[in-house]
Amino acid sequence: MAHLEDARAALLAEGRQARERLAGLERDFASSVAAADAANADDEHDPEGATLAFERQHVAALIDAARDRLRQIQEALTRLDLGSYGRCSRCGGTIGAERLAVRPTASTCIGCAAGQPRAG
Ligand SMILES: [Zn+2]
Repeated sequence: MAHLEDARAALLAEGRQARERLAGLERDFASSVAAADAANADDEHDPEGATLAFERQHVAALIDAARDRLRQIQEALTRLDLGSYGRCSRCGGTIGAERLAVRPTASTCIGCAAGQPRAG
């Protein structure tokens, strides 16, 4: 079906973006670790150190989110390969095309997603 190929193209494009974003974040993280090490070496009570630690935590959270996103994209692509894409993983119902257009990685229909906000 044509819309499945559209979904695959969208997922692959999104996956590429997510990977680039993740790579950029990991570079940021590595440099913030290096900067924090340098700051600690100078003076461990340097207020700069606290800022850097906060930044590092923030970047780490963004990395987690990017990895999670990438995993969702991967799972959606797997569902496409298995032929279960577009079917709700909870109730087995059809996930609306509109929902998939907005959210190609959706694994639950809108009803189930509303019942369990973190499932979709
Ligand atoms: Zn459902």
